[in-house]
Amino acid sequence: MAGDKKLIIGNWKMNLGVHDSSLFLHRLAANVKPHRNVEVVLAPTILAIQTLSLQVNHRQFKLAAQNFYWRDHGAYTGEVSATMLRGIVSYGLVGHSERRHVFHESDKDTRAKVQAAIRNGIRPVLCVGETAGERTAGETNDVIHDQLLGGLANITSEELPEVIIAYEPVWAIGTGNNAVPTDVREAVVSIRSQLKHLYGAKAASEVQVLYGGSVTADSAADYLAIHEVDGLLVGGASLDVHSFTSIVEKAHQSAKKA
Ligand code: PEP
Repeated sequence: MAGDKKLIIGNWKMNLGVHDSSLFLHRLAANVKPHRNVEVVLAPTILAIQTLSLQVNHRQFKLAAQNFYWRDHGAYTGEVSATMLRGIVSYGLVGHSERRHVFHESDKDTRAKVQAAIRNGIRPVLCVGETAGERTAGETNDVIHDQLLGGLANITSEELPEVIIAYEPVWAIGTGNNAVPTDVREAVVSIRSQLKHLYGAKAASEVQVLYGGSVTADSAADYLAIHEVDGLLVGGASLDVHSFTSIVEKAHQSAKKA
């Protein structure tokens, strides 16, 4: 575990347009209490980021980009850069399984995005995790190892603590098949030992590692109770005010116990 503060990130994916995002934030703000020991981050559609950034109480919520391009500017039609997001978002998701598997983003893209985020003062949330087939073949640790190496290749040990790792088994995302806590612990311990091997004990101990994959208000506490888990990346349940509020409250309770 990297400190006592828990990190809860709500990934709204391609849901809620500008108007609905704004209304949803309004409702969340009335329910989610700010706690000093929990950082709550919202990742809305890129279209709503600017509006929410003006609306949000930055002590209550931080914003994250769901995606961005790694070049800073230029002739890249349709793209938004980390440079453009600088000062608007605090975090940026990188290597989410939907980016890797639906949009075929490679470790090379992922690595360039991790670097672009750091260069622009945005904390990258590097998502790693195995598919169902890789899991059945016993390849979970190898896949995580390759994705960590691939995504972090250009990152120094001084920069490493800015990076957050999210363990998100692909088979658990958006499926309702959440991983059992003992398997999550095993994967997170393996992530930490791989980081230690690559960067040394001090830098590795400062990295926050999250779990994501079909987390609900009912299952959140079991993951947050795992000593090595620093928080959660939540998709579906972040689109329900009561579920998300309850997940933040559970993070608060578990941070108090730590
Ligand atoms: C995610 O989008 O990263 C995610 C974990 O989604 P869900 O919670 O819906 O599985």
